[in-house]
Amino acid sequence: MIETFTYEALPIRVRFGRGAVAEVGAEVARLGARRALVLTTPQQAGEGERIGKLIGENCAGVFPGATMHTPVEVTDKALDALKAADADCVVALGGGSTTGLGKALALRTGVPQLVIPTTYAGSEMTPILGETQEGRKTTIRSLDVLPEAVIYDVDLTLTLPAGLSATSGVNAIAHAVEALYARDRNPVISLMAEDGIRTLSSALPILIHEPANIEARTMALYGAWLCGCCLGAVGMALHHKLCHTLGGTFNLPHAETHTIVLPHAVAYNAPAAPEAMAAITRALGAPDAAQGLFDLVRALGVPRALSDIGMPADGIETAADLAVENPYWNPRPVTRDGIRDLIARAYSGERPVAAVPAEEAA
Ligand code: NAD
Repeated sequence: MIETFTYEALPIRVRFGRGAVAEVGAEVARLGARRALVLTTPQQAGEGERIGKLIGENCAGVFPGATMHTPVEVTDKALDALKAADADCVVALGGGSTTGLGKALALRTGVPQLVIPTTYAGSEMTPILGETQEGRKTTIRSLDVLPEAVIYDVDLTLTLPAGLSATSGVNAIAHAVEALYARDRNPVISLMAEDGIRTLSSALPILIHEPANIEARTMALYGAWLCGCCLGAVGMALHHKLCHTLGGTFNLPHAETHTIVLPHAVAYNAPAAPEAMAAITRALGAPDAAQGLFDLVRALGVPRALSDIGMPADGIETAADLAVENPYWNPRPVTRDGIRDLIARAYSGERPVAAVPAEEAA
């Protein structure tokens, strides 16, 4: 049934398709810019140089220093490079880390951003920026950090390693899952969410074995765009908050943490979000949302236990305390016992269970 809703479209221009990056020069010009600074991680510096050549005389150089968690020290260095090169726009080529650096520069200078995503994280579709200063992460939501234009070129994702393709893809699915039970959900975003889960969950098992399969790569990138739109449009809940806490407290890798926690967070919320669960099961083609997601992760062969990615055993209690410290909206009330149980299962890689804690069952 259609409920009362508010829908606000975000003004981002999107070009999608194989070879679309050839249009990077035209897209820079369309932004009204004349000197584009290309941003990459050190690992993708070579690809950044190639994009710089495609931009041609309007390329102001490459800054290959983007890194995880958008530390302000790196942003300060990039800011110096932006000024030294007299750049009037940024072209961020890479995953969420590089996109984050572009957003941080836009926040400080107002330069327009063209993003060329090479993972499935979805940051390019959101007005959200997380930054770290002296180990503390702060997140802001502002249209000032929303990219103006995005080029999705399937060919640039062919080099994404199989494991990272899988975890980055499940990270994207998590955005769509939480959009389906968001407090501010709406029918347009729910359509995108269900289709995003469907396309990614069919493409990822193929990519694990055939990372260069063009059809699966195209489906996965298209699904990532849909899921990124979900993250940009509506509020997230338990799953994203928990991953933020776990990642920040124990310095766990972003996409892997999302991949491990998602089936457990879905199991926790299942009793309170039946319509969302129905959409997820339709999209996965599985009888149960949480079990279907767990089976997907298992089929992808990526880590299923937080213990495997560096979380210490004595972190379970700490994480449970932190997770209930600052209250936030979630379809099901967040109780310490329930969350402790969830984290303990995710820690040891067990199957998720949708147990109702005693205080709620009573
Ligand atoms: P990432 O950007 O850190 O990339 C991981 C590694 O993969 C890097 O070394 C990168 O150079 C490499 N890589 C990327 N694409 C590649 C390709 N096609 N081929 C070969 N190597 C490639 O990882 P991520 O998961 O995309 O992003 C995670 C970060 O993004 C986190 O800090 C997270 O908080 C942030 N994020 C933010 C938002 C938001 O809306 N603000 C959304 C999602 C993620």
